[in-house]
Parts: sequence; structure tokens; C-alpha cells
Amino acid sequence: MTLYPDLTWVRDRFQRDLAVEVDAGTGRITAVAPAPAGRFDYQRGIRMRSRALVPGFINGHSHAFQRLIRGRTQRPPAQDNGDGANFWTWREAMYGAALTLSADDVYRVARFCFLEMLRTGITTVGEFHYLHHQPDGRPYPDPNELAHRVIAAAGSVGMRIVLLNVCYATGGIGAPLGDRQRRFRAPSPEEFLERTHGLSTAVVDRPMATVGIAAHSLRAVPRDWLPSLWGAAEDRDLPFHIHVSEQPAEVEATVAAYGMRPVQLLERAGVLGERLTAVHATHLDDGEVELLGRAGSTVCACPTTERDLGDGFLRGLDLLEAGAHIALGTDSHTMLNFLEEMRLVEYHERLLRRQRAVIAEERGDLRLVAPPLLRMATQAGARSLHTDAGRIEAGALADLVAIDLDHPSLAGWSDDTLAPTLVLSASPDVVTDVWVDGVQRLRDRSHADGGDIMAGFLDVARAGGAKPDGGGSA
Ligand SMILES: [Zn+2]
Repeated sequence: MTLYPDLTWVRDRFQRDLAVEVDAGTGRITAVAPAPAGRFDYQRGIRMRSRALVPGFINGHSHAFQRLIRGRTQRPPAQDNGDGANFWTWREAMYGAALTLSADDVYRVARFCFLEMLRTGITTVGEFHYLHHQPDGRPYPDPNELAHRVIAAAGSVGMRIVLLNVCYATGGIGAPLGDRQRRFRAPSPEEFLERTHGLSTAVVDRPMATVGIAAHSLRAVPRDWLPSLWGAAEDRDLPFHIHVSEQPAEVEATVAAYGMRPVQLLERAGVLGERLTAVHATHLDDGEVELLGRAGSTVCACPTTERDLGDGFLRGLDLLEAGAHIALGTDSHTMLNFLEEMRLVEYHERLLRRQRAVIAEERGDLRLVAPPLLRMATQAGARSLHTDAGRIEAGALADLVAIDLDHPSLAGWSDDTLAPTLVLSASPDVVTDVWVDGVQRLRDRSHADGGDIMAGFLDVARAGGAKPDGGGSA
């Protein structure tokens, strides 16, 4: 199959009249070559009039089940106003939802969440999966039951998934796991790694699913477990992800318990390098920025979630200048609009520095914002998740997104202004068609199973599976 869009995003710019040849058998792009106007192979080709083609977006950080609590945490109990409703009171509501979901519910919620991602141009999700056990805390007969359900949900939508299997052991540094965290539990690093290895083995024949290793956070994983988790990721060449410094209280607890800040602790534990993705990494001091940069690590920012939870601002420009990579995630899915994740990285810098075009590269006599933001959404995500996608180039995975050039939010674009108009100003429904692994999954904004997937989600939501519960303790 060959796609003939008007414009194609190749090597950090839109180029006119290229033909993108895709082999659905291998799921890869086989050629990207000039296609002079009028010379189309109509037998094998699709002429995409008024469409631009961009690489599929790569979502570095997601907890699909949290899609269920959207909106419901926006009316926190009035009693929270002592310290104010905050991340920690939100987390209690999230635990309430996590405790009620059956395996079928997990599948149905994830499926809907992944479809919503696909509609916004996301073709790969890094699913940070820590909901492992039955509601009473006992393992399922297959201890990877819920991971398999989430992988099946992605497969049924046609999305590529990297299942980041999460180790979760403590309820705080040195504190036992809370009863409300019972579904997350790993009793030892050995048990966790054996379970993860079983999952890797089970998905080995699935072209659209791979596995990575994650430690939930320094709150939830003891320091002396980190080297064995990291070592397993190195031995099997897997990505390694961990939540880092989302909240000041985490940093303070780490300093109090270990006498050093979180990224310093990761370095001492040997858990720093290109393989590392530090999720959030909001509250960093200069030394930590330097450490992440020198190691060539990735920071996965989740700007719409960080904004929703009142986490704070990413040190985006500082991290990039130090040498770190920035990927993007939708995390709690308070909204699903990947263009918004991209633009917030830049817009937050503008608000903080009272300047424009902060995260930008110079080309000729101009400062261009769109190329670095699009790289965060594509190539940096691919690097973080170890997938060979995120670029339109012969040999890369054929994960592609068509943009509607007639959409009102883009009206007035020119070849030179299309990229910044798309990234900084477009509505998410500019996405019309999506291919993953060389197969078309979204056609003219609709998915073959869209109605069923929505109905399945609404069944779970109406059954009360999402009732937030502000009570209890972590
Ligand atoms: Zn997260």
C-alpha cells in the first residue's frame, strides 16, 4: 500500500508530494520517495487529499484504569479544605476505583481509554501497570491476568502497547503496604521478576505488545530492591521506568530516610542511564537536572495531569540543555489530547520566563517551536519505550496519522506555518485516520468497534465501579 498525502512530516519538516510505501505484512514503512503530482499508482495507492501525514504519537506514561475517575475527582469533599484538596486526597479517590474493578472491567475501561488515545493520534502506549491482583489482594490463578487483559484491550483497538510491569511493595518509605494498596503488591523482587519474565514469555509472539520493567516510586520500592530490578532490565535490554519527585513531600521523605534527594539516590543505586525514564521529575534541584542530563536519561512529562493534580512545572528547557530527553504521557487521562501535552511543555516555560519560543531550535533566522515538541511526542517516546517507531522513514514501524488540512482550527495555514499551527493551536479532532503496524485502525474519525467499546465502558461507569471513596488510609 502507498499513501500519497499532500504533506509529510519527514526529518523535522513538512515536505510536499512524497509517497509513503507501507508493507502491511511486516508492519513497516518500506520507502519514502518523491511522488510528483499526478503520478499516482491508483491500484495500490491511497490519494489523501487535504491531508498531512505525521508519525503516530507515542504516549510514554498511562494508567488506563484511571480513565474511569475523570470528572469524579473534581468535586472533592469539603473536609479536604484543611490542607486543600491535593494529590494525596486525589490518590485516595483513585484507590477507591482501583479496589472495585473486576478483570472484565479493567479490560473494558482500558479498551475505551486506548480508543480515545487512538482518536488523538496516539499509536503506542506505555502502560504503567500496577493493578495486579484480585480485589481482595490474592493473586489471580494466572498472576498476570490483568496485564493480559490490558494487552488484549490494546490489541482489540489496534494500538501498540509496551506493558511496563510495575513493582509496588511499600506504602511509603519503610512503611508496610496499606490495605487499600493490596491489589498492587509484590512480596519480593524475585517474585516480581519471575512474574514479569512469565509475562514477557507469554507475549513473545505478539508483534504489537512488549514488556518493560518499572519500579512504582521510591515511596513504593525499597532502595535495596532497585539494583535487581535494574539489572533484570539490563540483562533483557528492557526499558526501565519509575515515578520520580512528582510532589515535594516525596522529595522530603527521601531526604529524611536516605539523606539524599531522589535522583541522587537513583545514581547511588546504579539506576541511572539511557535506559531510565523518570516519570514527572517535577521537583528537581540543579544537581539532579545535571545527573539526568549527563546520563542521557528520559524524563516523561505528563503536563495535563501535572496541571490537574497541582504538581508543579517541569524544568523543560533546563533538562534539554543538560542533555536529557523529554517524552510525554497522558498519565491519569484527565483529558486525552496529545497536542495539548506537547504545547504545555512550551507554554509553561513561556509563563514562567515571560518569553516566547523558549523550547525552540534556530533554523535560518527563525526560532522554530514545533520540531522539538513533535520530537517529544514521537522519537523521545520511542526511545523511552524501546520501539522502532516515531518517524516516517524506510524501515521504521508503519504507525501513521493523517491530519485534516481543511479543519477550521488550521484554516489559514501555509507550508511554513502548518507545523506550529498544528502543535500550538489545533483541535484534537484534526486527526482523521490512523494506521498502526501498517493496518488502518481509524478511518474518517471512526473505529470499526467504536460503539461497542463505548457501551462497554459506560456499563462499568454506570455500575458504580468508579465511585470515588475519599475515606481510608494509604
Ligand atoms: Zn503515573
